[in-house]
Amino acid sequence: MGLESALPVDSVLTTQLRRVINWSRRSSLWPMPFATACCGIELMATACSRYDLARFGAEVMRFSPRQADLMIVAGRIGIKMLPVLQRIYQQMAEPKWVISMGACASTGGVFDTYATVQGCDQFIPVDVYVPGCPPRPEQLIEGVMAIQRHVDQEGMPPPGGKRVPLGLVVQPTHAVRPQPVGLTIGT
Ligand code: SF4
Repeated sequence: MGLESALPVDSVLTTQLRRVINWSRRSSLWPMPFATACCGIELMATACSRYDLARFGAEVMRFSPRQADLMIVAGRIGIKMLPVLQRIYQQMAEPKWVISMGACASTGGVFDTYATVQGCDQFIPVDVYVPGCPPRPEQLIEGVMAIQRHVDQEGMPPPGGKRVPLGLVVQPTHAVRPQPVGLTIGT
């Protein structure tokens, strides 16, 4: 990493164990993608080369809940899928965090029906809500960074303590550009 050329090899660095643990934990968030619909495509785009989630150390998508600590719920949740979502969440080890990505995951979106869960936060604790239909990859990255800031500042939840969801909301940071002028087809 070039550090060895900037620092003498026999130097000593002192810090707090808590800071080292938090630094390593926030630099290696491993997402558990629960992608059920179109928001999942934006989640995939976030991990691809253009947006490169690897810059934040969070590109290692795990499909084993035992190896993941960041659940990203991307897409609508059907009532029949709900037990699966809850089971996967419960199988993830503490400390763990949850991002609700998109209108459907957070509120059911336009699917105001008996078969669709009207917000996954009714069943699992959500730390960061990323708005949009779908959210852009930049917004999801902002959500991941919000988790990282929390891990940096707050550290770990107390052992055995009750899990308190953060309930943060990512604000859209981009202005929508006006639509291009429509084409007029001559007769
Ligand atoms: S919020 Fe929009 S893009 Fe995301 S799953 Fe729902 S309909 Fe699809």
